[in-house]
Amino acid sequence: MVVERSERRCLLCMKRFTGRTFLCRECSDRYRGQEVPFELRQRFYQELDFEFPDRSNTYDVYNRPEALLTALLRLPRHVAILEVGAGGGFLLAELADAGFTDLTGSDITETAVGEIARRAPDADVVLADAEHLSFLPETFDVVISSDVIEHLPDVDAHFAGVARILRTGGLYFIKTPNRVAAEAYYRLRGLHDSYFWHPSMFTAGELSEALASHGLEMRALKPPRITEAQIVKLPGGSALRPLLARAPMERVPTSVRPHLEIVARKARQR
Ligand SMILES: [Zn+2]
Repeated sequence: MVVERSERRCLLCMKRFTGRTFLCRECSDRYRGQEVPFELRQRFYQELDFEFPDRSNTYDVYNRPEALLTALLRLPRHVAILEVGAGGGFLLAELADAGFTDLTGSDITETAVGEIARRAPDADVVLADAEHLSFLPETFDVVISSDVIEHLPDVDAHFAGVARILRTGGLYFIKTPNRVAAEAYYRLRGLHDSYFWHPSMFTAGELSEALASHGLEMRALKPPRITEAQIVKLPGGSALRPLLARAPMERVPTSVRPHLEIVARKARQR
């Protein structure tokens, strides 16, 4: 989520303030260190769509998961795919265009669910919390989450759900910020409310460990280049941006990349 300093409304209490955060200082302090109820998170993301339509992933593509797409396009077209937190449905639309026929998308906001249905009309669409995936066991060959897991307070419940609904040998594709790079950026920008919208952040090693505890064996994919959203966030002014946009990311070690794109396979029962 790209944030420039501006006058804005707090997404929870609607009070006006000037800054880069989505919550006013009071709301940010009120929920810190507490369990944030689902309804409150849902309202936050719904308000985000209303208040920042040109910043949210519901109405435009800022963070195309390049490495995930490259890997997904190698799969046979009949596989059953679920995208959780499918946002505006852009990825599902691309998969439908590429010939995939068994597509399901879920999101927690009415706004996103409406956009998914409009943009990927052949996909099944479900209003669902990614922490409580109520599909039957072994329903999908592939699950995708692109810029989703960092938003989930109980990400472990989500991983357990994915492990349950994936078939044995099935694949879970994830794109998420790299914790170390992202936390440095939030600190630099004074984003005191980042705990609210990104409560679950991982390094590659941490993610691998978290997935392994649910029988999901991870390997890193190589993002071909930095995404639009990341280029806008780069410190050091605009002079560096064209140069970095062309930097070959294949050569950058996973540990220092701004985001992680990975695939995990559901192992056979041990
Ligand atoms: Zn507030």
